Amino acid sequence: YLKRMNTFINYNMIFYEECDGSQEIAEEIAKNGAEEGNLVLCEEIKNARGRFGRKWHAPKGGIWFSLILRPPSLEWINLISLAMGASVSIAIEDVLNIKSGLKWPNDVLINEKKICGILSEAKITDDRLDYVIVGVGLNANNELPNELKAQAISLKQIYGRNIPALPLLGRILYLFGWEYKKIIEGRVEAIISDWKLRSLTIGRKVRIENRDEIVYGTAVDIDTDGSLVVNLENGKIEKFYAGDVFHLRF
Ligand code: ATP
Repeated sequence: YLKRMNTFINYNMIFYEECDGSQEIAEEIAKNGAEEGNLVLCEEIKNARGRFGRKWHAPKGGIWFSLILRPPSLEWINLISLAMGASVSIAIEDVLNIKSGLKWPNDVLINEKKICGILSEAKITDDRLDYVIVGVGLNANNELPNELKAQAISLKQIYGRNIPALPLLGRILYLFGWEYKKIIEGRVEAIISDWKLRSLTIGRKVRIENRDEIVYGTAVDIDTDGSLVVNLENGKIEKFYAGDVFHLRF
C-alpha cells in the first residue's frame, strides 16, 4: 500500500513488534545511509522519549513511528514538526471525523488533552545537515496510565471503540508527503497557514518555561521559521524556538 501511495515521499516501512526506541533504530539505519522515507513502526516501545529526554508512554495499540528525512537545510526542522502536526490533525478528521487542534510546538490536542506528540531531531555532520528523524506518538487504541489521564487522551476513548489504525497511519503519511513537498519547495507560508487553521495556540495566554526563566504573555503568531511570537506581559514582542522551550502551558 505504501509503495503505491501517490505522494511526494517514497515510504518504506520497517516494522518491530517491540523495541526500546524507534528514534534510536531510525537513527542507526540513517547513519548507515538509509534513504529518506524509511520509517520505523513499533507496536510497543519500552523506552520511548519525548522532548528533552522526557519519558513517553508507548504501549501496544498506539501508533508509534519514526521517519527518516533528508531535507536540504536545517532551517526547515521546526517547520517539519508543524507540518507533521497539521497532517496528523487533518488525517484524524478525514478518517474518523474527529476534530483536534494544535498546540505549539509539537502537540495535537483533543478537548485540551494530548492525543499526539511529535519530536524532530536533526543530525549534523561536518557542518551540514545529515538527516532529520521525526517521531510521532499517537494515542490510538492504547490504554493510558492513570497518571496521564488528566492531560492525555486516546482516539479510542473518543471514538467509543477501536479505531482503524492502519488507514489512519496511511492518511497521515499521505498528507505529510504533500506538506513536506511544500517545505522542500520553500512554500513556508502554506505550511504555517495549514498549521494556523488548526491552531489552539494563537490568541491564547501562555506561560513559557525556558532554560532559566518563566515568562507570561499572549501568543500572537507563528513566524516563517516556525518560532512562536509572543506579546510578553512587559510589552515586548519576543520569538521563542521549540528547542529552547521546556514547557508551554495555556
Ligand atoms: P509538556 O506536555 O510537558 O508541555 P511537551 O509537549 O514538549 O511537554 P513531550 O516532551 O513531547 O511533551 O512529551 C513528554 C510528556 O508527555 C511527558 O512528560 C508526559 O507528561 C507526557 N506523555 C507521556 N506519554 C504520553 C502519551 N502516551 N500521551 C500523552 N502524553 C504523554
